[in-house]
Amino acid sequence: MEINPCDKPVKGGSALPSRVSRKSHEENTIVTVNGVRVGGSEVVIIAGPCAVESREQLFETARSVRAGGANILRGGAFKPRSSPYNFQGMGEEGLKLLSLISKETGLPVVTEVMDTRQVELVSSYADMLQIGSRNMQNFPLLKEAGMCRKPILLKRGMMSTIEEFLLAAEYILSQGNDQVILCERGIRTFETSTRNTLDLSAVPMLKRLSHLPVIVDPSHGTGLRWMVPSMAKAAVAVGADGLIMEVHYKPETALCDGSQSLSLDEFDGLMTDLRKIANAVDREILVQKTTTV
Ligand code: PEP
Ligand code: MN
Repeated sequence: MEINPCDKPVKGGSALPSRVSRKSHEENTIVTVNGVRVGGSEVVIIAGPCAVESREQLFETARSVRAGGANILRGGAFKPRSSPYNFQGMGEEGLKLLSLISKETGLPVVTEVMDTRQVELVSSYADMLQIGSRNMQNFPLLKEAGMCRKPILLKRGMMSTIEEFLLAAEYILSQGNDQVILCERGIRTFETSTRNTLDLSAVPMLKRLSHLPVIVDPSHGTGLRWMVPSMAKAAVAVGADGLIMEVHYKPETALCDGSQSLSLDEFDGLMTDLRKIANAVDREILVQKTTTV
């Protein structure tokens, strides 16, 4: 019998709520990010720097990934850093830059929100809000995200089970926002040769249990630039609805996550390979029709 973690009885006997469950919604949900459809037959590519660092860095990277075929631009303005002394992001200045280059390139923008107090501000600039791994169980933030009208990119907690991940998404849906994309970004295991262990088995599992789109982040999933292309291709082969990848115009100078960021040329080369993999599994990489560059 099919066991959906969201259908399991909780202590006290009642069934857990299950808006995320395929049982409540058989068809795949399509999440629309300012016109870009995620969760349909086409695979969506989200690319850009880990963090917005400067106008030049963001704009050059964005123009290049746009030309290479990316569909959505990523870039953190508020960064969750392990050390309080590391670069914390450009804040609202970064959001303004994202919004400017979004208008120029036509690429919708996804950026992280770390705190309930930032939701309104970030929503006023971004097309999709990212809730990062470290905040996957920040329940007030999940509820606030559920009340806002922007799509949410929810990243799997680095120590979270599939059940916890789906229940975190349930928090957002329970507040009336069903525009949620799930992102597998690697989990912590005993293995230390990679930054995280990219759990690609989560993709078919999540797609089986839930109707929400599932994407993969091979950048944080591996921490290793040279391994990103292999895992990106594997993610498409295993059924991911999209990828989110870090790309930097000069990875060696990046203020954040340079060692896992693809160069502009590496991104272009990977896109060529991804088209072949997508075709092999009867899909295509999304080509946006509203080209402005
Ligand atoms: C990110 O995508 O910028 C990020 C910080 O990722 P994660 O939350 O998965 O660590
Ligand atoms: Mn990063």
